[in-house]
Amino acid sequence: MTTALSVEQTKDMLCFVAHRMIEHKDYLGEVDSAIGDGDHGIGMSIGFSAALGKLEGGTFSTVNDLFKTTGMQMLSSMGGASGVIFGSMFLGGVKGLQPSAELTAPLMATIIDGSLTAIKTRGGASVGDKTMVDALEPASSALGLAAREGRDLEHAVAAAEVAASAGVESTKGFIAKYGRAKSLGDRAIGHPDPGAISVYLIFQSMGMWLGELQHETTGQPGAIKDLEQGGQAS
Ligand code: ADP
Ligand code: MG
Repeated sequence: MTTALSVEQTKDMLCFVAHRMIEHKDYLGEVDSAIGDGDHGIGMSIGFSAALGKLEGGTFSTVNDLFKTTGMQMLSSMGGASGVIFGSMFLGGVKGLQPSAELTAPLMATIIDGSLTAIKTRGGASVGDKTMVDALEPASSALGLAAREGRDLEHAVAAAEVAASAGVESTKGFIAKYGRAKSLGDRAIGHPDPGAISVYLIFQSMGMWLGELQHETTGQPGAIKDLEQGGQAS
């Protein structure tokens, strides 16, 4: 049971996410090449490198500060629409939130719900428009449900990962209404949205870090393994 992460643990998890996103630079670039301009991997890599620069070695007293710093760094280093969109994924949800020294499943659900609202307000996209919202909205719903059911953070994030993955799959069937893929019309059908894949990778990476923590502390396999083997998330 991962009930709550400390600020230090949350920082480690976000740094792990950043490293993994940077590792996926070429892959995300290839996915974007199919329906966009091929720069999504470069953008995410720049954004998460900037975030890492501030997170690693920095001292933080709240979870809010960590998410805010990550989002601010992405926003200012990436530039353009995707900088605002992905910066808001970290920044939008902690705006106006009560400061907290621990990250729990309910707080994670609240943060991502706020992020989704911020992104939809700023970018105007809804589910079905072939954007990262197609992965973030189901992930947010899954987190909310898991939190209401009293699931721990690891299982809540695992549920978000599974939901985001289905969201990525759904984007293959959509025509884009935003960004460069819009001009492709139905030639974008069959290709997933790169931003949706990034959302999936972010939750997957959080899940990997949390699974490793669970394994280290209990010797049990992580929640995503349970879900993949058809087990009940508990
Ligand atoms: P750019 O579109 O400037 O080349 P990127 O390639 O880094 O930027 O990012 C593209 C991704 O941004 C898309 O795959 C999509 O998921 C996301 N995106 C673009 N516009 C919007 C929007 N209005 N709302 C939500 N997400 C968006
Ligand atoms: Mg692009």
